[in-house]
Amino acid sequence: MASVCSYTTIIGTNKVVRAGDCVLMHPYDPTSNLPRVAHVEKIVQDDKYNVIVCVRLYYRPQESIGGRRRFHGAKELFLSDRFDFKSVDSIEGKCVVHTLRKYMKLENVSAEDYYCRFQYQAATGAFTPDRVAVYCNCEMPKNPDEFMLRCKECKDWYHPDCVGMTIEDARNLDQYVCSECSTVDDSPATLPESQASDGMVRPPASDTK
Ligand SMILES: [Zn+2]
Ligand SMILES: [Zn+2]
Repeated sequence: MASVCSYTTIIGTNKVVRAGDCVLMHPYDPTSNLPRVAHVEKIVQDDKYNVIVCVRLYYRPQESIGGRRRFHGAKELFLSDRFDFKSVDSIEGKCVVHTLRKYMKLENVSAEDYYCRFQYQAATGAFTPDRVAVYCNCEMPKNPDEFMLRCKECKDWYHPDCVGMTIEDARNLDQYVCSECSTVDDSPATLPESQASDGMVRPPASDTK
């Protein structure tokens, strides 16, 4: 009979791990040197006093069926529907998985800081939510690692390279007005609706960051 433990410690350290914590585990893929990030669901001890952690696995974009895309940040993770049982000695350290909003507000991003905005179904490759806000002419969700320009008129965000600018030029601008907003011809007053085909939608324009 296994008994539930309220906490355990990482082997060779005095770092305490409890249910609800996020941990870095030995890579599942022996060819990868990236630790496997997981959420600890439960810690149990079997009748031979082996401590086992029940974990829910995070996936990295490159491990998903759709692969890594431009809008995926370096520290992006997907909370998968895969659970696993591992010996406590597979835990290498602890980490924090933030929401994207919190992650973007971090003053310093350490090696242990990650973020998650999607849940991921490992068998089908499906994401939840399947509709997210998109920006720029390329209709992409935001990548927190990428510098973007904000149009002072429409408040949309643009990648410098999507509007024919270098990042350096873009950083030196005091303000930016996108080509749609700076066109003063007699084109229709309403902009065409977003034609994103993969369920991505534009957020309503707002003054808030
Ligand atoms: Zn773009
Ligand atoms: Zn604009």
